[in-house]
Amino acid sequence: MPVTKPRQIQIASPVIGQDEIQAVCEVLESGWLTQGPRVAAFEKKFAEIHGVKHAIAVTSCTTGLHLALTAMGIGLGDEVILPAFTWVATANVVVQCGATPVFADVDPVTYNIDPQDILKRITTHTKAVMPVHLFGLCSEMDVIQDILPDHIKILEDAACASGAMYKDRPAGSLGDAGVFSFHPRKSITTGEGGMITTNDDQIAELAGMLRNHGASISEEQRHRGSKSYLLPEFNHLGFNCRMTDLQGALGLAQLDQLQRFIKERDLRANWYTQELSTIPWLRMPERPCDGTHAWQAFVTYIDPDTAPMSRNHLMEQLQEVGISTRPGTHAVHMLGYYAQRFGIKPTDYPRAMDCDHNTMAIPLHNQMSKDDYQHVVETLKAMS
Ligand SMILES: *Cc1c(COP(=O)(O)O)cnc(C)c1O
Repeated sequence: MPVTKPRQIQIASPVIGQDEIQAVCEVLESGWLTQGPRVAAFEKKFAEIHGVKHAIAVTSCTTGLHLALTAMGIGLGDEVILPAFTWVATANVVVQCGATPVFADVDPVTYNIDPQDILKRITTHTKAVMPVHLFGLCSEMDVIQDILPDHIKILEDAACASGAMYKDRPAGSLGDAGVFSFHPRKSITTGEGGMITTNDDQIAELAGMLRNHGASISEEQRHRGSKSYLLPEFNHLGFNCRMTDLQGALGLAQLDQLQRFIKERDLRANWYTQELSTIPWLRMPERPCDGTHAWQAFVTYIDPDTAPMSRNHLMEQLQEVGISTRPGTHAVHMLGYYAQRFGIKPTDYPRAMDCDHNTMAIPLHNQMSKDDYQHVVETLKAMS
């Protein structure tokens, strides 16, 4: 008797095809494995697609955010404003720089940082704001830009937003710099990996040096040409955050498919919304009226007052029929480290706390069949 595997629909699943496998094999055969021509080509193409002058590949979005903050001169005594509802890395990098994270509450409908709440948090120490384009939906960048004084930098946490558009401008081109993630749970993947984008020459140059131990080639040496071996100078305290050429090749192959991935997910997201909005206690994610949602995740909100069971109970029931779900993300101010070190109460950010308790991501990715989507919809409808 053949054993039929029980159905299991993952929350996310990367698409790795023959193009990706061949691209990585070519790098292995070339003998050049670390940052080299494939990373350079990946950076060039990523910059073109996201409408920026510079793209600097790094080992993750987290290290990219760290380098970008450092390149902006953020350090001890500075304050950085960020949303209370985000992945913990957004806050961790601020602390790693020696600066103080200052949380702002989020908009309950878009899950993104509330510009009006940013205003309340600005002090004379505020040096930067980090809007997060959560789940692939861009933050209200025009409003944020308008309310901030010029000396406060804007760093977009665009981890979930490869290919997302705000009005007619790409994510990553909207602030002083932006950083993307290529973790397998994101839209395109290089295993681990990240990309800093910026139109600012100085941030680009500094970030490029910081990822490579702080090494720079001086102007004088550059002019001497390529014949002699160029000795770098080390005038900055750097890190090693270089992406490998294996990842660069993988990223290039993935980038070719980004638009198709987003289009496919957008169709499915539309269908989910159409089918599931009949469930009164389940709120669908917001779509931008002008712009493109990149749909890194499809995050619903379960109304605790009218739902037949709690969010966590619902997640367990879905798991039992092979449907993986996740809470949207964390209210970072409620995580042990932040709550204790900064003395923050859960109710200090009531909307982030509510999102933490009641949001649920349901499966949406490019490896799901029509039948899989049908199964999710039918299961949820049967519960209502
Ligand atoms: C995934 C994610 C990160 C971290 O990305 P890594 O590449 O895993 O370091 C940061 N911020 C947000 C909002 C994320 O979703």
